[in-house]
Order: sequence, then structure tokens, then C-alpha cells
Amino acid sequence: MDKINIKNLEIFCNHGLYEEENALGQKFLVSASLILDTRKAGITDSIDVSVNYASVCNFINTYMKAHTFRLLEAAAEHLALALFAHFTPLEEITLEIKKPWAPIGLSLDYVSVEITRKWHTAYIALGSNMGDKLSYLENAVEAIKTDVNCRLVKISDFVITEPYGPVEQDEFLNGCLMIRTLYSPNELLAFLQSLEAKANRTREIHWGPRTLDLDILLFDDLVMDSDTLVIPHPEMHKRSFVLTPLSQIAPNAIHPLYNVRIKDIVPED
Ligand code: AMP
Repeated sequence: MDKINIKNLEIFCNHGLYEEENALGQKFLVSASLILDTRKAGITDSIDVSVNYASVCNFINTYMKAHTFRLLEAAAEHLALALFAHFTPLEEITLEIKKPWAPIGLSLDYVSVEITRKWHTAYIALGSNMGDKLSYLENAVEAIKTDVNCRLVKISDFVITEPYGPVEQDEFLNGCLMIRTLYSPNELLAFLQSLEAKANRTREIHWGPRTLDLDILLFDDLVMDSDTLVIPHPEMHKRSFVLTPLSQIAPNAIHPLYNVRIKDIVPED
């Protein structure tokens, strides 16, 4: 993808571990690599379809002066999040914040922290078979939609499905979402589990009834296996209650382990 680069934007502001740094302030230099598709702007010569670097510089200047962080890491993390929220065409950002006057009693050119953050594409399965199922699913969708680290892209119909597994229980309401997220896979899992917990989800019976079940199906084309997280979801290719809604919103998404399109593994009715 294309890049707009900003190098060493000079800002006098108040970040640092020491009270003196917060009170007196010092010089910081901010560099940003903004990754986006500039093709349309290139062809049309219109700023409306690009990101205006003057606006970005002013935004960074205002943001860095309006906040006081103890760590460069925190300044970079929060600034990146704010830039993504404000400049929606940005796909990826590399930010470097330099502190040339770091008060360590030694001479150096500068210390800096550099981070890279990007939007990922993830597919999430939702399910409920207790209480007001529709409300549980709708509340989860709303919470995902309003989280600063997520954007809701597509939502499938909710379908009523028969319960699976050995436990006798009520039928399910199931659906799938396509989201873009700044979370890492483990952060996304933790976020989804916090939504399950808020829906009074308990884990007493394995395979048992649940108010809300949120699973990560796919995350970019990632294949991973840790003690707490397996991606792609290890059961997804066997479950029609996942594949049917998923194929409605992402028929051409590819399962990275089997290298097949979702529409080609949906069971026939
Ligand atoms: P359940 O909610 O019963 O579907 O199972 C949740 C457990 O599965 C959690 O403890 C997760 O750590 C684990 N898990 C492994 N892979 C995934 C995944 N892709 N999405 C959601 N949970 C997962």
C-alpha cells in the first residue's frame, strides 16, 4: 500500500515520568508513516479522497499538547488510536516519538519509541440459547460496534438452529459478524469474553446452555494455536450454524488451513 510520511514534527509538550517534565515541558519530535490507498487521490487530484497531511500534523500537535502521558509508549499508543478514529482511510500507522532532551544526565541524540498498528479483519460467531436471545446478540453487536478498537463491517441474519452436543437444551439463535479491529487476537478474545461475562454467562456445563457465546472464526489469514486461542476456530468447518450465516456475509472468505472458500464448505439444506 501507499504511504504518506511525516518526519520530525516538532512539538513542545509535557510527557514524562518526572513531575518537572510534566510541569516544564520539553521538545518532542513525532514521525508518522500513514499507510492508505492513495490511488483515487492520485487519479482525481482531489484531497477529499486522501488524508490531508496538514490536518494530521495539526491533529498530532493538538493531541500531544492536550494530554500528559508518563511514558512515550502510552503517548504513541493513544495517539495512534486517536488518529485511526479521526482519519478513517488509514489502514496502518507507524509512529515514532523522539525525546531529544530526555533527562537522564547523559548526552544522547534522542530516545524514541516506535510502534506500528493496523486494522485487521476478523469474523466472529455469535450464539445464544437462554433468556432473551435476540437482546443478548443485539447487545453484543452494539458493544462491538461502539468499541474504539472495532468497526462493524457486515452482519448476517440471525438464524434459529437446533442445539448441538450431548446436553438437552433450548434451540439457539446464531449469527456472524465481519469486523475490522485494532486488537491483537488475544486482546480480541479478552474483549469478547468480557462481553460474555457482562451477559451473565457462566461456564458450569461444558456444551451447556449459554446466554451469549462469542467465538473468533477467522483473523486475517492467521493460523495459530495456543492454550487459550485457536484460529481458525477448530470446529467452524463442521458447524452449519456457523457456516450458513458466515457464507451470507463472506462467501468468498478463505479458510487458511483448508484453502477453501466458505461458500464451498457450507452444507446443502
Ligand atoms: P466456548 O465459549 O465454550 O466456546 O469456549 C471458550 C473457550 O475456548 C475459551 O476458554 C477460549 O480460550 C477457547 N478458545 C479457543 N479458541 C477460540 C476461538 N477461536 N474463539 C473463542 N474461544 C476460543
